Amino acid sequence: MNQTTKPIILLNIDSLMPEPLEIATQTGRAPALQFLKENGNYIPNMVSSFPTMSVTIDSTLLTGAYADKHHIPGLNWFDYRKKEIVNYGTGFRETTRQGVRRTTHNMLYRLNNEHMSTEVSTIYEDLAKRGIVSASINSFVYRGNTPQKLHVPRLFSALTYFENGEWTTQGPSILSLGHFSKLRKWGFTPQIAAGNYKFTARELRFLIRKNNLPAFTFCIFQDMDARIHFRGRMDLKGISKIDKEIQKILNMYSSWEEAVEQNVWMVIGDNGHSPTGTRYKEFIIDLRKILKNYRIARIERQVKNKDQLVLCVNQRMTYIYVLDKNLSLKTIVDDLKTDTRIDIIAWKEEDAVHVTSGLREGSLRFRPNGQYMDVYNQTWELDGEGKLLNLDVTDDNKVSFGDYPDALARLHSALHSHEGRFIIVNAKPGCDFKAQLTPFHLSGAAHGSLHKQESFVPLIITGSDEKPTYPRFVDMKEFILRLVVD
Ligand SMILES: [Zn+2]
Repeated sequence: MNQTTKPIILLNIDSLMPEPLEIATQTGRAPALQFLKENGNYIPNMVSSFPTMSVTIDSTLLTGAYADKHHIPGLNWFDYRKKEIVNYGTGFRETTRQGVRRTTHNMLYRLNNEHMSTEVSTIYEDLAKRGIVSASINSFVYRGNTPQKLHVPRLFSALTYFENGEWTTQGPSILSLGHFSKLRKWGFTPQIAAGNYKFTARELRFLIRKNNLPAFTFCIFQDMDARIHFRGRMDLKGISKIDKEIQKILNMYSSWEEAVEQNVWMVIGDNGHSPTGTRYKEFIIDLRKILKNYRIARIERQVKNKDQLVLCVNQRMTYIYVLDKNLSLKTIVDDLKTDTRIDIIAWKEEDAVHVTSGLREGSLRFRPNGQYMDVYNQTWELDGEGKLLNLDVTDDNKVSFGDYPDALARLHSALHSHEGRFIIVNAKPGCDFKAQLTPFHLSGAAHGSLHKQESFVPLIITGSDEKPTYPRFVDMKEFILRLVVD
């Protein structure tokens, strides 16, 4: 069968991790995923984007670029020009107190229509240019080139800046987004913005039933993340629940084999989780305490001239902006280094990325294009101690990665994802950052950092023998376009 005739369905299950997926499929708790896994290719170590936060990851998956190109730096970042903190409201997965109205608007509209760079294109845009239809179900990152009316139900109109209850956005030609846009006219939407797993699966089944599956469908289940934050990374119930919905989807065909005969099915996670410790004093890193000698902007009001620092916490990763020009980055880095729970610290200086750590001695500098080549064919100039990033450097200048997958490109990308003088900090496994009012996670799990616990996610590909060039999210777009267009 010609591959172009087979629709691709990419199911993104948030926070799906290799170990719990393997246990669930080996113990009969997830028969549909087991079927897809046993009848396809399984890649347990796909490298996610950095920071390991859903909006940055989904943007990488859909644009085939890291944050230096797509410009979605994280869930929480500081816009230097507008002097404002941008928070995408955590997609209702995680709580925020910065104003639901502003964050909803940021997430649903500004991310896609203002923040995402126009220098990159999404899969939807590339396919549309070739006259090929695609679909997005339940994803907050959805930019395409078809004007789409999103409808704000009266009950929720207070949450957005669109007073008249309707607004136009650029999406793929088939766009399903909870209450704001649904495929089934009378479908019931149980949550505010994104539907839950049942809603998501019903929207997908509707496309299949109407024989309306386009060449590519991206469908997100956003239900596991919140569970895992509280219950820890080995929670299997979430996988079982979503598996039941996938069973119903496969059951629409005369057999599951027939479902695979007719379509390419892919199942992927977005980020992993790092288990967090139980004692507040030991495991929660209060950045305001470490940086207590400086004036830190308060999140509920405009940034003022006298503010020296802005803290944008992305769970186990934080952007620390140094607004005071008389304050050197090095001064702040030295303060941060005194805390042994802070792992990788990185910043830009004179065209190079500088790395140090609260955990390990020494320093490392690197920049793209040099005599060292990493396992992804990217070349670098390296100077200093590779152990800071757990790099393995051979005598013939080959670089491979240990605890921090694709560390050089991913760190470089976050540091070049937006304007400003800032430092990136990562918490060591078990720990979580805290600043003013940011949610933290004790006795559960959290993500955001560069560490492999959060960076490796599984991918199942069933119905095609093709694979991405490298096991990374940033290689998914090229892979999908290859399957659809070749
Ligand atoms: Zn999360």
